[in-house]
Amino acid sequence: MDASLERYSRQMRFPGIGEEGQRRLLDSHVTLCGCGALGTVLANALVRGGVGHLRLVDRDFIELNNLQRQVLFDEHDVAENLPKAEAAARKLAAINSSAYVEPVVTDIDRTNIIELVKDAYLILDGTDNFEIRYLINDAAVKLAKPWIYGGCIGSHGQTMTILPGETPCLRCVFEAAPAPGEAGTCETAGVLAPIVNIVASFQVAEAFKILTGRHDRINRDLIYVDVWDNIQRRIKIAPLLGKVDCPCCRHRRFAWLEGELGSHTTSLCGRNAVQVSHRNATQLNFQELARSLESLGQVSYNRFLLRFDSDGYEFTVFPDGRAIIKGTSDVDRARTLYAKYIGH
Ligand SMILES: [Zn+2]
Repeated sequence: MDASLERYSRQMRFPGIGEEGQRRLLDSHVTLCGCGALGTVLANALVRGGVGHLRLVDRDFIELNNLQRQVLFDEHDVAENLPKAEAAARKLAAINSSAYVEPVVTDIDRTNIIELVKDAYLILDGTDNFEIRYLINDAAVKLAKPWIYGGCIGSHGQTMTILPGETPCLRCVFEAAPAPGEAGTCETAGVLAPIVNIVASFQVAEAFKILTGRHDRINRDLIYVDVWDNIQRRIKIAPLLGKVDCPCCRHRRFAWLEGELGSHTTSLCGRNAVQVSHRNATQLNFQELARSLESLGQVSYNRFLLRFDSDGYEFTVFPDGRAIIKGTSDVDRARTLYAKYIGH
């Protein structure tokens, strides 16, 4: 055996991969969107497994409360105040110096997504954000690239593999993103590390199959797992292909990529505040949103607006999903805060 392959010997001994599969992995290029809970587990396994080029894209910094589940980070990274993509790349270089890990610290949006994924063989979803998932879906369908969706909240999570043209796309299965405040976020509902590891592990196995050319082995169901309520479900989604009048994969209308759907963010000059608004009309249920934010302390609302404070910022949310976040003029920061507390 080639000495450079020795570190992968146990993986190559598995007949599904073999030497040929390993060489394909070494030659592969993956773009990973998001380097938080799912993203760090994904990046760790892909780089250890020999994926040759991993582009890691994340807009965020590391906080102490990330360490419970974001496996590539430690207290030293928190103290250094490093961006997640950068800290992850440093850790991954120590794990496998022969892999090319490319950190990109940016907010993924419709203006940069194509550039970030166009040279990748596969796109992996490690985000916690529905808006970015729909953008990934648009870009992947448009460019005919496989991608793997994963999402976790509380004790449950789900994953599905999308091969454009061959399996249903995200919009075939979930026509629209949950309304802001509806799905809960890790900040409001919490998240357990075991579900993160399970969902990410399913995604890594799928990634290995795609990158080694074993499409015959791909999981074509939506997998749902709840580790607290002991539920494991496989939901047949294959029949949806061609049956759903999907705007994305059937009509090739890429509404998220073209900015017809999605959020719109503006810095409010001189007010140290940013307004985040949603293009897709929504009607927030303040009672539910207030309940999900209860743990943060005082949340007050009336018919017209809901207000709460957190992390030193003041949030004012309107019934149509628009929010003004006071205490920052940084639009990326505001979008992160919006996603964190209100939803996607
Ligand atoms: Zn579709």
